[in-house]
Amino acid sequence: MRNMKKKKSKLTCLLVGIFLINCLFTSVYIFPSKFQNNNIISNLGEDYVEKVNDYLKLAQISGNFSRYNLSVILDEVSSSVEGNLTVNFYNDDDVNYTRIPFHIYLSGMEYDTRPGIIEIVNVTDLYNPNIAIPFEVHSNQQIMWVNLTANLEPQKRAEFLIKFNATIPDGGIDRANSHGSNATQSRIFKFASFYPIPCVYDNKDGWNTDPYLTTGDPFYFDMAYYNFFVEAPNGMKIAATGGLEEKLENSVSTQYHFNPIYPVREVTFSASRYFQVQSKISNGVNVSTYFLPKDAYLWNNYALNHAEYALILFNNTFGAYPYPTLNVVEEYTDYGGMEYPNQVYISEAIDSWGYPLDVDRRLLEKIIAHEVCHQWWYNLVGNDEIDVGFLDEGLTCWSTDYYGEYYYGDWEYFQFTTYIDEVRVYYNLNGFSSKINQTVYECIATDTDFYYVAYKKAPLIFEKLRLTLGLTDFLEGLKLYFERHQFELVLLSDIQLAFEDVVGQSLDWFFFPWFDNFFLPKYSITRNNYSSESQNLTITIVDLNEPWNDYEYSQQVPLHVYDTSNSLIFNQIVWINGTTELSFTISKQPHRVSLIYSNYVLVQLADEFDLTLDSIVPTDDPVIPGYEMSFFLLISLIFISFVIIAHRRKIKKSI
Ligand SMILES: [Zn+2]
Repeated sequence: MRNMKKKKSKLTCLLVGIFLINCLFTSVYIFPSKFQNNNIISNLGEDYVEKVNDYLKLAQISGNFSRYNLSVILDEVSSSVEGNLTVNFYNDDDVNYTRIPFHIYLSGMEYDTRPGIIEIVNVTDLYNPNIAIPFEVHSNQQIMWVNLTANLEPQKRAEFLIKFNATIPDGGIDRANSHGSNATQSRIFKFASFYPIPCVYDNKDGWNTDPYLTTGDPFYFDMAYYNFFVEAPNGMKIAATGGLEEKLENSVSTQYHFNPIYPVREVTFSASRYFQVQSKISNGVNVSTYFLPKDAYLWNNYALNHAEYALILFNNTFGAYPYPTLNVVEEYTDYGGMEYPNQVYISEAIDSWGYPLDVDRRLLEKIIAHEVCHQWWYNLVGNDEIDVGFLDEGLTCWSTDYYGEYYYGDWEYFQFTTYIDEVRVYYNLNGFSSKINQTVYECIATDTDFYYVAYKKAPLIFEKLRLTLGLTDFLEGLKLYFERHQFELVLLSDIQLAFEDVVGQSLDWFFFPWFDNFFLPKYSITRNNYSSESQNLTITIVDLNEPWNDYEYSQQVPLHVYDTSNSLIFNQIVWINGTTELSFTISKQPHRVSLIYSNYVLVQLADEFDLTLDSIVPTDDPVIPGYEMSFFLLISLIFISFVIIAHRRKIKKSI
């Protein structure tokens, strides 16, 4: 995620929105009753090594994976590590490789005074360090190519050793940084994307060598086994991807060995002398939180419970989290949080956004649920974050709202402005189209707000699908999708297929228009006609935006019919499939037909509160245009009276 990245105007709207919403909530923050007794928290403090042995053992993971040993030594003064990456690269594609590219992202990140950088010292043969393997660094692209000494054929492995030094950005609020001060007990070293990470080869793009991008989370990695060794000065607390296998302490430093046991897409670690640590074992997983003393009032017990609730719900709903550890770690950023395998980061800035405490608490819970959910949608089931970044992000947002629904009874619980209200007036407010299925580059080229489509519109479309299929089938679809694709990389068509297999029919009619059209439907009732003789009401509904879209929309919309006294005389939920002709038998003369845009009917609106589309039904009785029948009758009566009176006068006169 890069949740909550705000522009100032949006911030003002959000503040006002949250204030208004907050006014509606009179109750104080209370944990859901089903978990009130589940409160076993250990403050592990200095000696927080805890080996978990009862984590889930998966019977068999299909597929071969690359294997990496990464070992780094942290230098606290220079915010850098000296690193060794042992590569055992598995070629799982049907092509021969002559060279392999690695991302070296750090220099693309934001900084205050000193940029981040990954310097490659050398690449050598794994067994003979005197044999150098040639490599090229393209620093503007943050890419390093290792030129193999022999062709790497499919299903074969290449081995070598990369020595590197990585310095994280000084300050800044990006994905890796050293930030805070010792004086205020707030210094944190956050090492993410800090070592050479192999690029992904796929049939569509070949090698995906995209540089670090500031739009979305520009990551795309294959699963791999990691052994991760971190050596750090004594007195620091280390949070890292993987279970702690071993801890060896000498007089000045401590070496930690972390092992995620199962494949992960990358590893990360964070170090601080000031972390407060809380842990509990839940579902066989050591769930831990790491936070600064300044935020203990917000994090203490709450954060750990939120992480556990998320783990329990997503385990039960999508499929089991197989790793031995799950860490939630405080970080410095201006967005809400960021996901990495087995370890997620949550911004320390929540308390500076100026909301009341109960809103801060809710935001913390929302961001923890969101980032934890990325363990399923990003790490276990992965996708190209540049080509289909909306997929895991949209699904994660939907799932976070499902957490709100499950624990608080409201799918919109965490939506301070509801997606539906935002999406329906988006075009009117911004004048931009909002196609979801676009790469990050296409979004930039078409002036589409990636944040809006991935975090707002995509989860709304998943919710529309849930409402269309029903919760049971929808969740079955997600389960099937997870079961089929964990440890793999997916495309949008994979999730569509999982839902199709559950419901037993093609869902092209749903996926193509809602994910690929630039505009929402905008209905107009172009004709309605009632025959009192046949008692038949016929209506024609047209989607005015259809000419600008590639696919015709289909959705269910409530239709109401009223008589002249405004009484509802007929209602039905109708399917509108592109231009639609409808016909109903109604015994009473109808006066007005209305399409009702409630229940997640998705249309382009000019005004979010204007949720009906009305059309007056002409009658088939004789009508003087512009006059009501009663008025016409009154005029006729006056005219007839006048004629009669005049005639009588004439008779009297003649008498
Ligand atoms: Zn996210």
